[in-house]
Amino acid sequence: MNLPLSPDRLWDRLMELAKIGPIPGGGNNRPALSALDGEARALLKRWGEEIGLAVTVDRLGNMALRREGRDPGRKPVLVGSHLDTQPSGGKFDGPYGVLAGLEILHALHESGLVTEAPIILVNWTSEEGCRFSPSMIGAAGAMGVLSEAEVLDRRALDDGERYGDALKATGWDGAAEPTALQDAVAYFEAHIEQGPVLEAEGYDLGIVTGGYATERALVTVTGETSHAGTTPMEMRRDAVLAAAEMIAAGEAILYRIAPEGRMTVCRFMADPGADGVVPGGARFAFEYRHPADEVLARLLSEADAAMTGIALRRQVEVKREPYWSFPAVVFDEALAGRLREAADRHGASHRDMLSGAGHDAYHAAARMPAVMLFIPCHGGISHHPSESISREWAEKGLRVLADAVIATANSEEQ
Ligand SMILES: [Zn+2]
Repeated sequence: MNLPLSPDRLWDRLMELAKIGPIPGGGNNRPALSALDGEARALLKRWGEEIGLAVTVDRLGNMALRREGRDPGRKPVLVGSHLDTQPSGGKFDGPYGVLAGLEILHALHESGLVTEAPIILVNWTSEEGCRFSPSMIGAAGAMGVLSEAEVLDRRALDDGERYGDALKATGWDGAAEPTALQDAVAYFEAHIEQGPVLEAEGYDLGIVTGGYATERALVTVTGETSHAGTTPMEMRRDAVLAAAEMIAAGEAILYRIAPEGRMTVCRFMADPGADGVVPGGARFAFEYRHPADEVLARLLSEADAAMTGIALRRQVEVKREPYWSFPAVVFDEALAGRLREAADRHGASHRDMLSGAGHDAYHAAARMPAVMLFIPCHGGISHHPSESISREWAEKGLRVLADAVIATANSEEQ
């Protein structure tokens, strides 16, 4: 299909959007449910209305920009991502997927082509989850992973503001039914890789076939605070040394059982954290990620056993409380096949890969066939002002996404 896609227009829009909430270094700070988020939404709405899209907003703030198909009986194809950013975010994490989807609809509009099924561009609310945990909360609410009330009553991590109140304050609390978006035949999401693999291996695109199962827990180690000079080593109950041994054991377990997985200690706090004091407390956020649920479960149970043993020997107590987890995600093979075919057609080199990060597509995949397309980002740098992509990568991703979305909207198999 000769669609008049304009990679320049996509690029110009990415740069235009990045003027909302700029930070030093070329990045963006555009937190979800802030006034700046509202500005970005208004810009997307204007761009959508200029090409005749029907813009609706649901009660969780998710935006849907709809272009009708020829057959009123057909369910829509969704394409989307998010416009919110991390506090030290870049220009592309999220906006690339939204604006690539918009460019597809713009090119369809210009060409006058009508797909069989409708296409809906989605901007999910609060993907990054910096103020309202967990991340991907708007998509979770729409896809029924969390209830509407659970999302609206969620409190901000910083000042305790309610999600529903913050949404209302931005004026983007819509009337549409959030779960209506479940009634679709497919979900596509293009995104920057946020990792170094594609660029390092020289690929133009990644066909994302699934995502890692993840569990992050807060581990609390309780020993006894004492004097760092007067307490002999054998009489100490040092929580930090116990925690250090637990962390090292957790890493050793990963390397022994599943070196292809991931282990991270994202945060570490010592208590009381004072010079000259043997710390009686330690807390750390400990996470494993693995493509297979059963391997993740085995890693966790071995880590539990190791931590319990270390705690016993060192006479401390240990408690591991999971607070963020999701199962492994498997994306749809037929949709992945459409992306591969399109990539071959456009001469874009590609490889299959798993997503290490969470994305809105994970929740969509719980309700419908879903798939993701990754474009490389320089140095794998993301969630940072220097996050960058080449115009060539942006264009290849756009062309391949367009082909696959339109093929799905015109497919007979619905
Ligand atoms: Zn993202």
